[in-house]
Amino acid sequence: MKRILVTGGVGFLGSHLIDRLVDQGHKVVCMDNLQTGALANISHVLDKIQFVQHDVIEPFPELGQFDEIYNLACPASPIHYQADPVHTFKTSVVGALNILELARKTGAKVFQASTSEVYGDPLVHPQPEHYCGNVNPIGIRSCYDEGKRGAETLFFDYARMYDIEIKVARIFNTYGPRMDAKDGRVVSNFIVQSLLKKPLTVYGHGKQTRSFCYVDDLIEGFLRLMATPKEVTGPINLGNPHEFTMLELAEKVVNWTENDTLLQFEALPQDDPKQRQPVIDEAYRVLGWEPQIMLDEGLQKTIAYFASKVQER
Ligand code: NAD
Ligand code: UDP
Repeated sequence: MKRILVTGGVGFLGSHLIDRLVDQGHKVVCMDNLQTGALANISHVLDKIQFVQHDVIEPFPELGQFDEIYNLACPASPIHYQADPVHTFKTSVVGALNILELARKTGAKVFQASTSEVYGDPLVHPQPEHYCGNVNPIGIRSCYDEGKRGAETLFFDYARMYDIEIKVARIFNTYGPRMDAKDGRVVSNFIVQSLLKKPLTVYGHGKQTRSFCYVDDLIEGFLRLMATPKEVTGPINLGNPHEFTMLELAEKVVNWTENDTLLQFEALPQDDPKQRQPVIDEAYRVLGWEPQIMLDEGLQKTIAYFASKVQER
């Protein structure tokens, strides 16, 4: 049994990770400032874990020893990370410093939830880990993209300078139950809109692509990466390599919600990446990992979740 810190643990991904860690019998400490996550996501395990309300940009309270740390704290949806870009940048960079210092002091292995956004609007397609990306350093997405790139830099410099054990995952668009219905991400937006029989808001012409990974597959990848020997640091892409345009996604959502929903075309946000698809050869080779749940199946599970939420209202 290990003692494990999860930052950002009440968010979408963090809450699923905590479920798996609790199931495995570990002692979990969850740190979150409740900025975008909801305590309801972990209410079913609150009696089994320790919850600390804390912002990762502030000096950490005394928390004791840890074997492992998963750093997930950061708003992931554009509307949230752009609401206070300076705080988002600090969350990634100052937060990473605080977390790495804790790892150095306690000897814990430390996992970083990095992102496909480090590739920006990629000019290489699909994206392998050695691609250095095409990121605008001064745009409205930069606080997130450059913050996450800065965090990766700190992780690798801490590993080189202080010999700490790091695991860096580059996560591609992930969806599933417990996404926040109002956080503006495309899968939750389309599903909620369709369930409420409202038009689906397609940004731009809808020809931009994303590759969507179901949450259970992703969390399995996290656990496998954390369990690797010290020499495995990443960065490792974790995502589902099947690529879809937003129009194709809209069609699937309309189909699985069995609604005859219309599309409403809106302006494409600034710096919106035109395409995104992971190369996952490294994850397969090192972790024996590849996604098991394809978009149609994952969408049905996610629609069932949101349908129950819509009914609760
Ligand atoms: P989320 O917004 O649901 O969860 C983020 C959690 O972090 C929330 O509970 C929030 O309250 C907390 N948080 C934010 N800033 C904090 C701070 N300064 N101090 C303490 N807690 C803070 O997002 P998510 O989808 O669960 O994403 C989790 C992590 O995975 C993020 O780091 C995100 O960048 C990364 N990621 C997610 C995706 C995805 O598709 N979901 C893709 C790439 C990377
Ligand atoms: N998008 C859309 N309609 C929406 C929300 C998003 O067409 O209601 C588009 C968005 O412009 C982007 C893609 O869907 O091209 C994925 O957006 P999301 O915010 O989910 O993730 P990210 O842009 O961070 O990959």
